[in-house]
Amino acid sequence: MTLDRIELDGVGSPIRLAARIHELAPDLPLAFDIKAVCRQLDIHQIEEVDTSAYEAAIIMDEYKADGSILLARSSSAKRKRFSIGHELGHFLLPTHLPRSGGFSCSHGDLKSSDAKCKDRQARIEAEANRFAAHLLMPPRKIRSNLTASQPDLNEVRRLSQAFFVSKEAMARSYVDAHRETLALVFLHRGRIKRFYKPDDFPFIDVRIGSEVPENSIASGYDLAPTETSELEDCDPSIWLGEWSQRPVETLSEQVMSQREGHAMVLLHAELAD
Ligand SMILES: [Zn+2]
Repeated sequence: MTLDRIELDGVGSPIRLAARIHELAPDLPLAFDIKAVCRQLDIHQIEEVDTSAYEAAIIMDEYKADGSILLARSSSAKRKRFSIGHELGHFLLPTHLPRSGGFSCSHGDLKSSDAKCKDRQARIEAEANRFAAHLLMPPRKIRSNLTASQPDLNEVRRLSQAFFVSKEAMARSYVDAHRETLALVFLHRGRIKRFYKPDDFPFIDVRIGSEVPENSIASGYDLAPTETSELEDCDPSIWLGEWSQRPVETLSEQVMSQREGHAMVLLHAELAD
């Protein structure tokens, strides 16, 4: 693998930039060494520190000649890998100009996904996440590694190991890359924590912080941690408002239980032509 930043000059889109790196290094394995990629792109130091002030940070000057990444030691290895991708995004994206010597990114910044957000800072964080997701989980490689005949959270679990990323990071990239119309709802102790849906998925009519809807498959399941339900048809009105149900012919739901009361719900909408 030989990468040179000069080959990335003028690429301003997070998705194009990640794709360009894969074009330049076509033999990168699924769980490639991201630290080695950073070293080739002028990030010479990646250090772990005991801090709760941030999840990850990058130190660089305004000319971005080189950079150093700092990682909170307490994060998991998979989360650290995504964080490195995120900070590399700040380093390479030309519009991400460092303020006071770099970027300091919280746990919330590393989940920011609204690239159209009016708040410039939130948009920049979402762009760094989009770059990291496309670098670590190129959609083409996700699609070529799909084996299940229908959308399946067990496949998300398998791919998260193969690409060495967290299940949540893989789940988001999976619904983006999959040809079916999919969305995710994240639960904690039976309440809606957040959801994630590509633009083509109908509006999900649930409030953050509310209990999981009555009669949903997620509300009726009592799964042991790491167990996954079947993907089953459900009444679209459970998750979707009256208006957004109209194009939906079938809605199905699958639940994956995780540790410490967390769970992930996959929604699959089959839309009328
Ligand atoms: Zn950031």
